[in-house]
Amino acid sequence: MTINATIEEIWAKSLSIIAQKVGENSFELWFKPMKLIQFKDKNATIEIPNRFYREWVDDNYPQILSETIESLLGYKISAKFKISEKEDASIKRIENKHESRRKELGKRGIYLNPKYIFENYVVGTSNQFAHAAAKRVAENPGGSYNPLFIYGGVGLGKTHLINAIGNAIVDRLTTTSICYISAEQFTNEVISAMRHDRMADFKSKYRNIDVLLIDDIQFIAGKTATQEEFFHTFNALYEKQKQIVISSDRAPIEISDITDRLRSRFSMGLIADIQSPDIETKMAILYRKAMAEKMNISEDVAHFIASKIKSNIRELEGCLIKLGAHASLTATPIDLNLAKTVLKDLLSEDDKPTTVDLIQKIVCEYFGIKVQDIKAKKRTKEIANARQIAMFLAKQYTEHSLSEIGRFFGGKDHATVIYACKQVEERKAKEESFRRTIENLNKRIAP
Ligand code: ADP
Ligand code: MG
Repeated sequence: MTINATIEEIWAKSLSIIAQKVGENSFELWFKPMKLIQFKDKNATIEIPNRFYREWVDDNYPQILSETIESLLGYKISAKFKISEKEDASIKRIENKHESRRKELGKRGIYLNPKYIFENYVVGTSNQFAHAAAKRVAENPGGSYNPLFIYGGVGLGKTHLINAIGNAIVDRLTTTSICYISAEQFTNEVISAMRHDRMADFKSKYRNIDVLLIDDIQFIAGKTATQEEFFHTFNALYEKQKQIVISSDRAPIEISDITDRLRSRFSMGLIADIQSPDIETKMAILYRKAMAEKMNISEDVAHFIASKIKSNIRELEGCLIKLGAHASLTATPIDLNLAKTVLKDLLSEDDKPTTVDLIQKIVCEYFGIKVQDIKAKKRTKEIANARQIAMFLAKQYTEHSLSEIGRFFGGKDHATVIYACKQVEERKAKEESFRRTIENLNKRIAP
């Protein structure tokens, strides 16, 4: 765009790009009511109707506004929100608290999420062990459980918990150096250090910290150089009794494609799992969140949402935010009817049968591969393995015939499906880790 573009032009263009990125439904509901109202010194101010918009964007597309405007203008900008509705004083207070923590973290160069703290983590039977272990580690880093390995399915609170450890330490120990990093980011740093001949810098950075919090470690499966580097980082820290906390979407024994020596390191300290929350915990999380947002939700609304959302707590919160945005925009109180109308597309109907599509999606997500790959002819070991497992699960969970199942996988014949099922049965009987993988997938398909 030219330098002289008006802010209306920039915004119109931005919206059309965003619409393509996020799809029509999300666009209509969340982005259309926004407006770019000021652009000064590379600072964009975007007006939004209420705080739920900010929360939704932060959760779902944190960078989309600044990135889109940057792509149009060709330079870095920062985007902030202005809420048109008058804000509640107590909510402002909480937000100011987060903001001052954010500043403190920024000063110390720590990339923790200031909102993820122990105080707002709801404890139930599904997560109490992991929570207790995390608290202990935060109180006595390097002294209790090392490493602490926390695992559990998507959206069950791993990232929240390991950030809470970091934040608690930041609050208490001003000189302790803490590093929170996703395994994906760690991988990128390894690659970049190798490419630019900066391995020495990389090593001194990671071997001289007091607390390493590494999120989603399953990401380094299959990545040899990263595993090698992580192994040495781990050893260096461990020898100096520095605290290491690792999160993963599965237990160490279920992470395929990592070296045995790493797997055994992961199991050296304490392993804590987070299970799917029961309905009481889900309701408690909803109440807590509603209270923080100054929303009134009745028991039947909480129960309705908690019973419809199977386990993912992010989805649970997503429902509440959507409900809050609607109620606030239309000035209607939240009752069961509103909840049913507003959330109808979000909620999976109980009686909806499990489909082959869903199984393929879950299996591919689990193995970190693309759905199109298990439908194609590709035959790497990893893909063939995922395909066989998905076929086996499709046979278990759906009413489709073997030939029909074959067709869902890019036109394989029924003999291929029979073979796949047999292979899976045999491996289940022989291999402990394989059996656990199947169990885990079962839990994800029918929690
Ligand atoms: P994961 O890393 O396991 O995928 P997250 O830690 O990102 O999950 O959690 C998803 C969302 O659910 C976050 O917004 C988090 O704050 C919230 N959440 C998860 N568990 C709890 C809990 N026990 N109490 C309150 N909020 C939770
Ligand atoms: Mg996470």
